[in-house]
Amino acid sequence: MFENLSERLSGVFDRLTKQGALNEEDVKTALREVRVALLEADVSLPVARDFIKKVQSEATGQAVTKSVTPGQQVVKIVHDALIATLQGDGDPGQLKIDNPPAPILMVGLQGSGKTTTTGKLAKRLKERDGKRVLMASLDVYRPAAMEQLAVLGKQLGVDTLPIVAGQKPVDIAKRAKQQASLGGYDVYMLDTAGRLHIDELLMQEVEDVRNVVEPRETLLVVDGLTGQVAVEVAQEFDDKIGVSGVVLTRMDGDGRGGAALSMRAVTGKPIRFVGMGEKMDALETFEPDRIAGRILG
Ligand code: GDP
Repeated sequence: MFENLSERLSGVFDRLTKQGALNEEDVKTALREVRVALLEADVSLPVARDFIKKVQSEATGQAVTKSVTPGQQVVKIVHDALIATLQGDGDPGQLKIDNPPAPILMVGLQGSGKTTTTGKLAKRLKERDGKRVLMASLDVYRPAAMEQLAVLGKQLGVDTLPIVAGQKPVDIAKRAKQQASLGGYDVYMLDTAGRLHIDELLMQEVEDVRNVVEPRETLLVVDGLTGQVAVEVAQEFDDKIGVSGVVLTRMDGDGRGGAALSMRAVTGKPIRFVGMGEKMDALETFEPDRIAGRILG
């Protein structure tokens, strides 16, 4: 799993093998390689810098275990520190959906995978947790998006709120809330509109919806391949709306997932799920060690 980085580091540490403890200069040299690996994985520069600083002080002076090379030991220290940063409190897959009907607000930029993730989560809640789920699209700007959710609902056997032309997002949200109560649903999921970029109108609209339904979970869906942009999006949404968790999509792609680390380090928000493809069952609970391995390459 860590061959690449271990290989890179083994040269650096060859001369140290007999010394028994990691000294400051050698750790520094090794961490330069780690820094390159982080940046290559699309971790943002300030986050990579802070991370390296932390690991530097942790690693310096540590005794080298006989069974591993110093290079491997540094990789292990780095790996453990990555997991510590990536890990949130509690079980990432456990959504707060007690007190039915529990509202879940899905937010994010257009094209991030919001509607797909809404469907995937609804399927998971239905099949894994035995919940009755209602989905509603608040994307009044793109009728095709509303249609897309309705089609997904049919496919999954999950109810969607009937589409009423001309309603504002807040009104649709109110209608969803009412329908969820009357219809005895456990959860109602609101798939909000996204834009290509964050703008005031979008934020105001999501804020209004949030105030009406008081969501139990507000899940931000971000494209895991977008690196620094993902971090900015997360920060903006968290500042304005308040986010309870992040879903990283497109983690089935070639990207190494550095956005996960940056996002955790910058916003402190837990990553809850990972999108692993376009199919409705391609959603996994976030596992820090898998991403850590990927980031290290
Ligand atoms: P929205 O505009 O945010 O609602 O985005 P959509 O849900 O419509 O997704 C945009 C595109 O990304 C669609 O073609 C999805 O099939 C695709 N997509 C969503 N999640 C994933 C994922 O985890 N992996 C891959 N490969 N594609 C995804």
